[in-house]
Amino acid sequence: MTPNQEEQRLTLSSIESLARDVLLASGISLAQADAIARNVTAAEADACRSHGVYRLLGYVRAVAGGKADGRAVPTVTPLSPAIIRVDAGRGFAPLANEMARPSLIAAAQAVGVAVLAINNCYHNSAMWVDLEPLAEAGLVSIGLTAGQRSVAPHGGSMPVFGTNPFAFGWPRPDGAPFVFDFATSAVARGEIELHQRGGKSIPLGWALDAEGRPTTDPALGLAGAMLPFGGHKGTALALMIELLAGPMIGDLTSQESFVEDEGRGSPPLGGELIIAFDPARFLGDETADHMARAETLFSSISRQDGVRLPGDRRLAARVQSAREGVLVPSRLLDELEAIRA
Ligand code: NDP
Repeated sequence: MTPNQEEQRLTLSSIESLARDVLLASGISLAQADAIARNVTAAEADACRSHGVYRLLGYVRAVAGGKADGRAVPTVTPLSPAIIRVDAGRGFAPLANEMARPSLIAAAQAVGVAVLAINNCYHNSAMWVDLEPLAEAGLVSIGLTAGQRSVAPHGGSMPVFGTNPFAFGWPRPDGAPFVFDFATSAVARGEIELHQRGGKSIPLGWALDAEGRPTTDPALGLAGAMLPFGGHKGTALALMIELLAGPMIGDLTSQESFVEDEGRGSPPLGGELIIAFDPARFLGDETADHMARAETLFSSISRQDGVRLPGDRRLAARVQSAREGVLVPSRLLDELEAIRA
């Protein structure tokens, strides 16, 4: 892509330094800033713009509003051989994940299945970033987190759920892991916000206005209710995620997280749940044979014309971004430079 006046091309390393500087200038600790900078740079590299440097504004807002602790030091505690808890201390998910990941991997390899409960955490990032390193360690995983209420249940018009993402990771013997990751709303909230910033309308089916009418106006949709994907099926998944990443691990529901925010517009405070399985503990000497059967399944999907595997777009973007850098809206860069200065 060629940059126009409204965008500038940055290398990934300059994105990461910019992110770190912006966060440090906002009083966030080096450990938290480094982890967040790695996270948003990974999102930019994979062309997941809704979770790239744009999200820095949310991290900064959360700390400036006095809600999040940008200097929190997460504490990792094993609750049983298969359950790890990390208390993020009202800090951010990237550092909590990075600090707890070695314990989760070790527990999954020892027991065969292990669960990481991340509590008291501001989650503002894409979930695939949390699962890809687990797949690289040979583990299968599922990741869930609730949000702040913004999505109405199927048939309703009052927000109850967050955009509650669901992610799944699978290791592949000869290539990048298979990871899919999606909001259980029709689209991630950041996508509507980016449409609003770009002065673009949104498709019907993404949101309702405050009176419950379908809208193509991003501002009205953000003020009203987002819609679930897949009607009643997406609603049921969103509810499952609320329960597993909320009450089951002693953390907030999306409604409670919304109340806790007191209208400051911070990222959601709450829990994240990651379940990791070690196929080798199920399969022993036959692990390679059965993983090869999975490869047959993948190829019977991806060899069809017009079909791709989830994650293929991201991985192709990653190769291109490493070579060419990424385009960032100039207006956003101006805002970030102002914070850095
Ligand atoms: P998308 O709808 O863009 O993509 C969802 C998944 O489907 C991706 O794995 C994507 O792969 C895949 N996919 C998309 N199109 C196709 C296709 N034509 N064929 C096959 N696979 C396809 O994601 P969302 O907008 O729902 O979510 C975006 C991000 O927002 C996610 O990373 C999610 O974690 C994050 N999020 C985070 C929240 C939080 O609270 N922290 C809340 C909500 C969302 P590919 O990427 O390769 O296109």
